[in-house]
Amino acid sequence: MINIGVLALQGAVREHVKALHASDVTITIVKKKEQLDMIDGLVFPGGESTTMRRLINLYGFYEPLKAFAKMEKPIFGTCAGAILMATEIVGQTEPHLSVMNMTVERNAFGRQRESFEASLKMEQVGEDVEAIFIRAPIITRVGPEVDVLATFDGDIVAAKQGPFMACSFHPELTEDNRMHQHFVQMVRNYHQIHT
Ligand code: GLN
Repeated sequence: MINIGVLALQGAVREHVKALHASDVTITIVKKKEQLDMIDGLVFPGGESTTMRRLINLYGFYEPLKAFAKMEKPIFGTCAGAILMATEIVGQTEPHLSVMNMTVERNAFGRQRESFEASLKMEQVGEDVEAIFIRAPIITRVGPEVDVLATFDGDIVAAKQGPFMACSFHPELTEDNRMHQHFVQMVRNYHQIHT
């Protein structure tokens, strides 16, 4: 059975585990870098990207995560997790893990819309996908190799580049597991090719 990890340094870990439980997969709560060797795909949860980055450095995850991405093992980042994946962050000089060719702007929906729900039409995933946005980033630019999966009010809120998928919102906070199922399929595809 494929093994999917959820990076458990900070943020909405339990909710991702619950969403993944709907699929027939083994789930690993990743707290030590050595655990990356035993998983086929990894979820970066939402939370606070700057805090997550601090903990990534503190626990020696930075290089192992870069190596994980280099092997093209699938990664799914939600909200703060998407920020970790971007090559550029508006207003910051340095990105974090820099695995998807896109620019993100943090907290981009403004104060009056700090959190809200929407129903999205998502390429490759389906119609009426429930999405909860909490101090969400917007993907303001994507490179030519990136597929836009969904927009909200004209802004990009989900994208995919090969084995990497990112969204601005929190699919794990709804009962709608289709994005997780899609990610599980991405991991199965990786597993089939590489084993
Ligand atoms: N605003 C957070 C950040 O910049 C992300 C919010 C979230 O993950 N819900 O990291």
